[in-house]
Amino acid sequence: MQIKEQVDLTDFNSFGVHAIAAYFTEIQQPHDLNEAMAYASQHRLPTQILGGGSNILFLHDYPGLIVRLANRAVERLSAPGLLRVAAGENWHQLVINCMSEGLYGLENLALIPGTVGAAPIQNIGAYGVEIEQFIVEVEVFDTATGTVRRMHKADCEFSYRDSIFKHSRNLIVLSVTLQLLTQQSPQIGYQALRDAFPSGEVTAQQVFDTVCRIRSSKLPDPAILGNAGSFFKNPIVSKDKYQSLKQQVQDLPCYPTAEDELVKIPAAWLLDRLGWKGRQRGQAAVHTKHALVLVNLGAASGEDIYLLAQEMSSSILSNFGLSLDTEVKII
Ligand SMILES: Cc1cc2nc3c(=O)[nH]c(=O)nc-3n(C[C@H](O)[C@H](O)[C@H](O)COP(=O)(O)OP(=O)(O)OC[C@H]3O[C@@H](n4cnc5c(N)ncnc54)[C@H](O)[C@@H]3O)c2cc1C
Repeated sequence: MQIKEQVDLTDFNSFGVHAIAAYFTEIQQPHDLNEAMAYASQHRLPTQILGGGSNILFLHDYPGLIVRLANRAVERLSAPGLLRVAAGENWHQLVINCMSEGLYGLENLALIPGTVGAAPIQNIGAYGVEIEQFIVEVEVFDTATGTVRRMHKADCEFSYRDSIFKHSRNLIVLSVTLQLLTQQSPQIGYQALRDAFPSGEVTAQQVFDTVCRIRSSKLPDPAILGNAGSFFKNPIVSKDKYQSLKQQVQDLPCYPTAEDELVKIPAAWLLDRLGWKGRQRGQAAVHTKHALVLVNLGAASGEDIYLLAQEMSSSILSNFGLSLDTEVKII
């Protein structure tokens, strides 16, 4: 394990903001983690785990040790469709490889940037599917005890863009075990997919291709325009709260959630209503096609993007009485 000093993080975050890590290491083998954590505790350094950097925003230089998970391995386990995948594997590449090997279910989650290890952190979701549907267990290194253990799905506390891993900073994901389908069973309940396939007859490959096409037309490519996808989560409110908001905003949309009494309000719709699309604050801007996506026009700092995000959430609070939680991790 090699520890580097004064590492520029610009290429390690999809916003492309400039920040310097005082110390930086890449984990190729799970046992390197022991060494990295020992180094941090010996030098009294704070640590920050990093995958592909597509869901984080660095506000400043980082004074501690950045630990980037880069362990690679995909293992077929004994049961059909059961896979153990190392944290450092690329998510989208995994989706492609699974499809080509006749393993299905992940096609709705195509083109989500980042690593496999980060997928359970916010329970990645898109086009009506969430990763928790396929997770059997998550192997973690627990920095509180210095041990490796397996957490069953039921212990991961998955919910909308959330899990135990978002709150327990001592848990570092080493691998994820997924139960995929060996027969195609395309999920096209999400409106955009229903519209694309009105007959309901569709293959997994067609869902994959359509999800990739829609995403590429709506979301900016971070390699061209720095961004981290949706910056905010959609607010979840009680049906009563929704009804009272509807008196004020008659065309306010909502979507069902897993819980009967709660509904999800699309944050993009609220922001769009207040005219945020395309607005700029210096080099930080709201994407012209998607009000939930903040972009770096070239030379924005993490702080520029964060201040713009704060203005946006304040406007939602004062106009609708709703607070927006960030989906992106602010560091
Ligand atoms: C264009 C674009 C589109 C996106 N679309 C979606 C979408 O449709 N749905 C969606 O859910 N997300 C989406 N995202 C967000 C992002 O891609 C996902 O959250 C992804 O899982 C982040 O992976 P990462 O490896 O880049 O994580 P990072 O950004 O590196 O890390 C994110 C968080 O996870 C923690 N973390 C990372 N790896 C580990 C690990 N091994 N163990 C413990 N903690 C870890 C980090 O400390 C940090 O808190 C999008 C982002 C972009 C740029």
